[in-house]
Amino acid sequence: MNIPQFQKSLLRWYSKKARDLPWRRTRDPYAIWVSEIMLQQTQVTTVIPYYEKWMKKFPTLQSLARAPLDSVLHAWAGLGYYRRARMLHQGAQEVLKNWNGKIPERASELQKIPGIGRYTAGAIASIAFEEKSPLVDGNVIRVFSRLKALRSPVDQPSTLRRLWKLAEDLLPDESIGNFNQALMELGSQVCTPQNPRCETCPVHGHCKAYRAQRQAFYPVRLLKEKMIKLRERAFLIEKNSRVLIQKQTGKDRWSGLWIFPNLNLEESLRRREVLKIKHGFTKYLIDLRVYQTQADEKIFLMPKMLSKKFRWVKREDLKKIAFPSPHQKIANYLLAS
Ligand code: SF4
Repeated sequence: MNIPQFQKSLLRWYSKKARDLPWRRTRDPYAIWVSEIMLQQTQVTTVIPYYEKWMKKFPTLQSLARAPLDSVLHAWAGLGYYRRARMLHQGAQEVLKNWNGKIPERASELQKIPGIGRYTAGAIASIAFEEKSPLVDGNVIRVFSRLKALRSPVDQPSTLRRLWKLAEDLLPDESIGNFNQALMELGSQVCTPQNPRCETCPVHGHCKAYRAQRQAFYPVRLLKEKMIKLRERAFLIEKNSRVLIQKQTGKDRWSGLWIFPNLNLEESLRRREVLKIKHGFTKYLIDLRVYQTQADEKIFLMPKMLSKKFRWVKREDLKKIAFPSPHQKIANYLLAS
C-alpha cells in the first residue's frame, strides 16, 4: 500500500464529505470526551439531541464534576448503558482533583482517567490536541480488515494488536485528528457492514477485499455469544395518587437509577398485567412483565419498605426521575394514562 497516497485520498474525501456534527465544530477536549462516550454503542442520530442538551446543562468539566450524580443520570436517561454516565462523572471529578481541572493532552495520561480506555484516549488526544495517537473502533476494524483482507478473527487479541499497529503506521504527520475521524466516517458512511459502497470509496485502489470482490467475507469473527433470556417483573403500586419507586444501588444492574419495584409479593395478591416490555441489554434479552396492584397493608409491612431505597412520587414528578429504558417505558405509560 502506498501510505502517503492513502492518507491524501482519505483526507481529501473527508474534507468534502464529512457530516457536520455538533462535536466536530469544536476542539474542546471535554466536549470531545462527552461525545465519544455517548457514541459508544449508540447511533449518531440518537446522540445529537442528548449531546446538545448535555453541553447546555454541563458546559464545562467543572460544572459536570460538581453536579450531583442524580442530575447527571437524569440527563443521560434514555441513552442506556448508564455506567458510561457514572464513569464520565467520576472521570471529571478526578481531572478536577488530580489534574487541576485541565484535561491531559497525551493518550497515555488520558488512559489514567476512569472510563477512558485506549480508544477514547486516542480520540481525545488526536482530535483535541493533534497528538499522533491511533484509534481503533468497530468501524475502523471493518475498514482495515477489508483493506487487508484479514483472515484472522478480529475478536482475537492478536488480531486486535495487529489492527492497532496498522492504525499507528497509517497515521500522517499532520491533520491527525481529521485522519482518525475520516477512518471512522468511512466505516460508518461507505464501508458499511452490508453492501459497502465501494465504487465511491476514496481508497478502493488500496483495498484487497474489493480487488477480490470478497468484501462480504470481512471482518472474520469467532462465533457470536448467545443472547440470554431473562424474565422479570415490576409492580405499579399506587397510594393516594403517588407511585412507589425503588432506587438501584451498589451492584444492582442499574445502580444510581430508579425502577418500579420487583417485590416478592404473594401470588394471592390481586394484580393485573398491564404491560409487556422487551428490552435488549448487552447479552441479555429482558422480558419484563408489569403488574398493577393495590397498595394494601401486606406491602407496607414489608421490612424492606422502611428503607431509604423506596420513595412515593406523584405521577407528574416521574418526568424528573432517571429510569433505565425499560422502566422509562413504564413511566411513560403512567404519564400518558
Ligand atoms: Fe470498504 Fe469497499 Fe472501500 Fe474496501 S473498497 S475499504 S470494502 S468501501
